[in-house]
Amino acid sequence: MTPTQASTPDGLTALRQRYRLERERRVRPDGTRQYRDAETEFGYYAADPYAGEPAARDPLRDTVDVAVVGGGFGGILAGARMRQQGVARVRIVEKGGDFGGTWYWNRYPGVHCDIESHVYLPMLDETGYVPEWKYAPGEEIRRHAVRVARQFDLYPDALFSTAVTSLTWDEESGTWIVATDRGDAFRATYVVTATGTLSEPKLPGIPGIEDFTGHTFHTSRWDYAYTGGTADGGMSGLSHKRVGIVGTGATGVQVIPLLAEDAGHVYVFQRTPSTVDVRANRRTTARDVGADREGWARERRENYLRIVSGETAEQDLVADRWTTSAGLLEKLLPSFRRQGDRTAFEAAYEKADAAKMNELRARVEQTVTDPETADRLKPWYRYACKRPTFSDRYYPAFNRDNVTLVDTADTHGIERVTENGVVVGDTAYELDCLIFATGFSVGTSGVLSGKLPVHGRGGVPLLHAWGRQGPRTLHGFTSNGFPNLILMGSLQNASSVNYTHILDEQAVHAAALVAAAEAGGALIEPSRESEDAWIAALAEDAPDHEWFHAECTPGYYNREGRGRPNGPFAYPHGACAFHDLLRRWREESMDEILRTRTPARP
Ligand code: NDP
Repeated sequence: MTPTQASTPDGLTALRQRYRLERERRVRPDGTRQYRDAETEFGYYAADPYAGEPAARDPLRDTVDVAVVGGGFGGILAGARMRQQGVARVRIVEKGGDFGGTWYWNRYPGVHCDIESHVYLPMLDETGYVPEWKYAPGEEIRRHAVRVARQFDLYPDALFSTAVTSLTWDEESGTWIVATDRGDAFRATYVVTATGTLSEPKLPGIPGIEDFTGHTFHTSRWDYAYTGGTADGGMSGLSHKRVGIVGTGATGVQVIPLLAEDAGHVYVFQRTPSTVDVRANRRTTARDVGADREGWARERRENYLRIVSGETAEQDLVADRWTTSAGLLEKLLPSFRRQGDRTAFEAAYEKADAAKMNELRARVEQTVTDPETADRLKPWYRYACKRPTFSDRYYPAFNRDNVTLVDTADTHGIERVTENGVVVGDTAYELDCLIFATGFSVGTSGVLSGKLPVHGRGGVPLLHAWGRQGPRTLHGFTSNGFPNLILMGSLQNASSVNYTHILDEQAVHAAALVAAAEAGGALIEPSRESEDAWIAALAEDAPDHEWFHAECTPGYYNREGRGRPNGPFAYPHGACAFHDLLRRWREESMDEILRTRTPARP
């Protein structure tokens, strides 16, 4: 039997049946409630392994032009674009000890970005930096964040190791009062929230998780003091240790090969296997990417966005497994439509999907020598039910004698943690170290999770103002009753796998709003009518995701099997069309959001 035959159930009906069974094995009644918040319940921000104890400083009571909450790429880009508009005082407030956001906290061994670095790293044209690898290591990305922040002079006013605890609009002065956990209560004429989508680590609510007496941490707080080594490996502290790792998502897939090289023994506790496609990382030169031409990075980034947004492009400049599989990602995009003859379209789509998944399952068989292990590593669901991952080192790691794959699907994950290790089925695994690669509360940080209370006109809390009907915004950025507050994120906005591109377009927009308000001595505040019109526009063409996600194995894409709600959550025509819409609106209609200040600003 050829590998492809071996991984292909007989026909699409059998495949559908197999997918259903695999989903049913994993759906849990507690859905998203199975997780626990690492910040509030386990104090994950209390200790910053990279910054140490923050230096004492006096609380601030001054006034700045723009306060930005969050110093990841969203906040840095907001700051940089504000500078380009001539804004003098921009204060970025960041929980971590430096800029970088995700790339500040996630320094685990093997950390890379699997989106091509030449399109992922923002402001390459502006900084003149050309990445060294097709897929950059985390440290190169973190340094680039610092590079952009330095170039745009964002350090002098920045507050690190500081969390914003509330934002309160002061009607009298027409400013926001920004309170922090370091006792600050400074004022800002404008506030931009850029609190990220992967900033709140989560841990599984496994019974006994607090009882483990060995060493334990989440991958976003890698403890090199314990493991030794660096993000490149060399973890001598693990050489005689029994290490368990929970989670085989994009993070697990990057970490596990390095753990396998360094640890005494690695137990990989898998619940759902990821799709692991070809990575083919390589060094690149400026010539490879045409970096001698002005605007090369912008052009490449636009080209990538077009392709992964399901639009046509003359050329595929990046040409990797994201772009060549982009057709299969369309179902995740708000712009996805069942076109023409629905039945024929869906049938063709399903066939293409099955071919891709068979190719990925065959990849496991071709690499992993033990047939039982290979079988457990095969993903049985439609492409992109789970976030696709890419690695050429992951499957070979399972051919090592010191790596054991423990399948936990039948028990819906690890059943119990004990003092000495973990229990799955009838087997207790004794461990010295237990690492959680269990991800984040995706898309719900800061303002949206309610952890950052925002009080607008009349002291009304933002989430209260939105009420049961859900968020009300114009373009996802601004809300009536919350003047000069600009939200960054994917809510009622657009999204893409290349999220830094999305953030940059948002930063450009935010800075243009501020510049227009400054020029007109006005406040930024949409009318209720313009919010209604935006929500109606989103709802009119809201995509039907339900049919796809309802059949997917559980994960954060489908709220752990409960399905992704349909509705006006994102711009339905995709990121490129959204960016065009914003550009046109800035040129033709921006005045609609500017309100007269009463009293006028002194
Ligand atoms: P994920 O949420 O994607 O994965 C969490 C993993 O933990 C899953 O494999 C999950 O299994 C498993 N898990 C959770 N609870 C249990 C349990 N009780 N028992 C056993 N297993 C359990 O987190 P990641 O950190 O891997 O990735 C988060 C996101 O970060 C990615 O989706 C991606 O957007 C981003 N990322 C991007 C990278 C890049 O290169 N661009 C690199 C790394 C991350 P199950 O699937 O069954 O729920």
